[in-house]
Amino acid sequence: MERILGKLIGKQPGPLIICLAAVHGNEPLGLHAFQNVYSALVKNKIPFKGKLIGIAGNIKAVQSGRRYLDYDLNRCWTEDFVQNVIGGRENGQAEDEELRSIHRIISEEANGHHNLKVMVDLHGTSAEKGNFIVVPEELNEHPIITSLRIPIVVDLHKYLNGTLLSYYSDRGYVAFAFEGGLIGTSEAYRLHTSGLWEILETAGCVTGHDHHQQDHYSSHLAEMSANLPAKVKVLYRHLVKPEDGFRMYPGFHNFQPVHKNQELAIDAQGVIKSPHDGLIFMPLYQSEGDDGFFIVEEV
Ligand SMILES: [Zn+2]
Repeated sequence: MERILGKLIGKQPGPLIICLAAVHGNEPLGLHAFQNVYSALVKNKIPFKGKLIGIAGNIKAVQSGRRYLDYDLNRCWTEDFVQNVIGGRENGQAEDEELRSIHRIISEEANGHHNLKVMVDLHGTSAEKGNFIVVPEELNEHPIITSLRIPIVVDLHKYLNGTLLSYYSDRGYVAFAFEGGLIGTSEAYRLHTSGLWEILETAGCVTGHDHHQQDHYSSHLAEMSANLPAKVKVLYRHLVKPEDGFRMYPGFHNFQPVHKNQELAIDAQGVIKSPHDGLIFMPLYQSEGDDGFFIVEEV
């Protein structure tokens, strides 16, 4: 698999759009969503303003069907860690080369002048109804973000150390995670594909007149169940360690209301109850991951 999934430089100047896919190796559908959009742009010679580049995330983990091999490639973007890895002072872990290569490509591609720099990081979730955006609070009213019309989690990145979106939002990007839904589903693939068109149009790279995709995103949104909150904040995070033997009780989906003391999961210490009334968020239904679940509230 090539690191660069596709690169398009428009004849006219405009925004820089960087799309990352499969930063978690078990979420490969974003690769196909980007390739779908990119190949339509090229094949149909759709007029494009600015620059688009798609970057494959954790290639080694994709090839192994794993979330990651040695460390999570979306929890390692802290200043010190990145400097160590790009400076060659790493520990020889599988993800070092992935991180170094992604960092180098972004640095090289971002050197021109752009009126807007957008970084879309495509992800999926292990629970149902995982359609949401994670973005720093100061960016949550940005037209690119609001154009997607799915729930916005405004402070999740504060709980997750070393995310790609935090690292690059600190460097002037409108950087966000776009969670397309349940891992491996056609719904997630279609939401990512049509959502990318929506982003390109909102950014001014393409016009709806040229790409003929303008209704697709709206119809995909309409297919998904309504009554999702517009914006949420984190009330509580349940951290897990491998030795906890954490198991989420079955059947929870993102943004499902839960009440204080409701039984949610079990581990070696016993039953785990919700400490708050709220909405359950990112319940863990895969073997790898540090976050058992979050409780969020609408703001
Ligand atoms: Zn992910």
